[in-house]
Amino acid sequence: MHSRLPLNPDDRLGDMLRKNKEWAKKVQGEVPQFFATTAKGQSPKILWVGCSDSRVPAEQVVQCAPGDLFVHRNIANVCLHTDLNFLSVLQYSVDVLQVEHIIVCGHYGCGGVAASTENRFHGLIDSWLCNIKDVYRANRVNLDAIEDLEARKELLVELNVSNSVYNICHSPIVQAAWDRNQPLSVHGWCYALSDGLIRELGLVVSNKEQIEHVYKMAVMERKTSIKASQSASQE
Ligand SMILES: [Zn+2]
Repeated sequence: MHSRLPLNPDDRLGDMLRKNKEWAKKVQGEVPQFFATTAKGQSPKILWVGCSDSRVPAEQVVQCAPGDLFVHRNIANVCLHTDLNFLSVLQYSVDVLQVEHIIVCGHYGCGGVAASTENRFHGLIDSWLCNIKDVYRANRVNLDAIEDLEARKELLVELNVSNSVYNICHSPIVQAAWDRNQPLSVHGWCYALSDGLIRELGLVVSNKEQIEHVYKMAVMERKTSIKASQSASQE
């Protein structure tokens, strides 16, 4: 048996555990079946991709309850084709949970985006920030045209969100979903630390017609042809 002695001399952690007990009691009082129901399974219809920044807690800023959002957060909400962690979240949420919306929510004042514009050495994280530097390089003419450095960083925040949105859409996971007519839209949003409000970036991608030709993949066609050739070879 494990002893249940208090392990946290730090008051902040003790406070968190106390608040957790209060919260669980309050929810239980308001909705007696809440935990029994949510313990049975989840069926969120939205995948939220956000920054790890402590000031942008997904559920809190859009007032969602436990069970409403499937969440992936990393530094500066970067979505890569080679990130096994992110791709696993994407595949599970699209194929198994069948989410209908994927929201990439960046935020103005993002420290990760700001750091990517510097020439300082930060260590391991520089490899991650290079992905945002790539976004800068691809949009250098537009970014360099903005003299105000803060405004320039704000545009880079938006462009970084846009890049993640399109990387998600270019993935075979999302294209396969569209090929089988699964309703799925990918949205670009930006949260402002200064007023707590989210700006829609006017970027919603819901089908293959909205992505550049070179990225389009006939995923289901390919799967069908592999299946056909496999069954032909067994005959
Ligand atoms: Zn951030």
